[in-house]
Amino acid sequence: MKVQEVLNDLKRRFPNEPEYLQAVSEVLESIEEVYNQHPEFEKANIIERLCIADRIFSFRVTWVDDKGNAQTNMGYRIQHNNAIGPYKGGIRFHSSVNPSILKFLAFEQTFKNSLTTLPMGGGKGGSDFSPRGKSLAEIMRFCQAFMLELWRNIGPDTDIPAGDIGVSGREVAYMYGMYKKLARENTGTFTGKGIEFGGSLIRPEATGYGNIYFLLQMLKTRNIDIKGKKCLVSGSGNVAQYTCEKLIQLGAIPVTLSDSDGYIYDPEGITREKLNFVMDLKNIQRGRIKEYAEQYGCKYVAGGRVWAEVGDIALPSATQNELNGDDAKQLIANGCIAVSEGANMPSTPEAVAVFQNAKILYAPGKAANAGGVSTSGLEMTQNSMRLSWTREEVDEKLQRIMSDIHEQCVRYGKQSDGFIDYVKGANISGFMKVAKAMMAQGII
Ligand code: NDP
Repeated sequence: MKVQEVLNDLKRRFPNEPEYLQAVSEVLESIEEVYNQHPEFEKANIIERLCIADRIFSFRVTWVDDKGNAQTNMGYRIQHNNAIGPYKGGIRFHSSVNPSILKFLAFEQTFKNSLTTLPMGGGKGGSDFSPRGKSLAEIMRFCQAFMLELWRNIGPDTDIPAGDIGVSGREVAYMYGMYKKLARENTGTFTGKGIEFGGSLIRPEATGYGNIYFLLQMLKTRNIDIKGKKCLVSGSGNVAQYTCEKLIQLGAIPVTLSDSDGYIYDPEGITREKLNFVMDLKNIQRGRIKEYAEQYGCKYVAGGRVWAEVGDIALPSATQNELNGDDAKQLIANGCIAVSEGANMPSTPEAVAVFQNAKILYAPGKAANAGGVSTSGLEMTQNSMRLSWTREEVDEKLQRIMSDIHEQCVRYGKQSDGFIDYVKGANISGFMKVAKAMMAQGII
């Protein structure tokens, strides 16, 4: 494989998909050497078969708003690769959603799911519908209309969606309710469900907690204690909230949070009580993070990014490409020692290069945020067995999985000077398992 040739070809075929090309380029560059040691991969054209999704569904979603007017949105489901298990990945509702963003997410998901040690393939879906500013009844009608189109193409052994940006337990419940009505089954074709109808304990917490479990493993390689470390967290949704919760439990000090309008900086630290305020503000009141600054009298920067502040550890937990090369330089200049990604592809390629050149601890999302989908895998297991594990059982399994993922990154990413290249480690490890499964199953 010549990476540049493959990339040029993909650019020609998918010219308007920058996020997809960015994700593919990062993976191909880091697996090139290993791939070229396996001529059988080249003959079977594993690379193109792995970069191009198995299939993509796109559909119109029509729903009625509160004024009685018909509205339309686009809906998508990308079934990327099912070599090691059924397609698995979240659904995103955000006005920015387009095929490029979902294709990058589904591609990344395939490697992430491979790393989890559980048998799950990769997928992703979503819509350019934004729940922001919509009434509960509008959100429900939209979720039902979305499912009316998608339900035939998903199932407990074929494709199991979950939440993502703009899709919390509330939206999952509406979609799952409609799915059950149409499919007439109760097999758990969705993860992130409510605890009363098949959901798993710790699933809401899993991505944020998992990211911190991974961070702890990284810090251990350099004998660094997390206690007392100032942490810059971006976002204020599911991942950001439970990242803060775990940091507080461990004695670290989260000092920032953000949303798409701006960020807050609280030098005193976000405490348990303040986090409760954020959870109520974001999950119940559906308010803006600015209100935190009004409540606690701290700094609010409209339109700014949290990376301008001083912190020991950065935990991007909002969205893709939210941290660029200049932000990365600023973080390093301010003494940042570790970056662990809760979001998917939050750092641009320039930012990743800055972190790696500075040889700080840097974990890409596909390793660090894999706790979410891992716990979704555990939810699937519990649904199949028709029983529920305790919080402690799920948390213990989550910790073990994050530690396994860290170990795989070290195995494939340790350089001759001892530096651990977590990007390379995660990509090679995730790739090898999927490639071997594809080879074993023939040319299909
Ligand atoms: P939520 O919808 O709960 O929260 C998203 C947060 O990010 C909100 O604070 C939102 O602000 C902010 N945000 C979203 N888009 C933008 C944007 N374009 N610019 C600036 N801020 C933005 O989503 P999650 O917390 O679930 O997801 C966050 C990230 O983590 C995503 O990258 C997701 O793919 C990833 N992830 C999530 C997992 C999960 O289990 N939920 C699992 C693995 C990865 P606002 O409210 O203003 O839109």
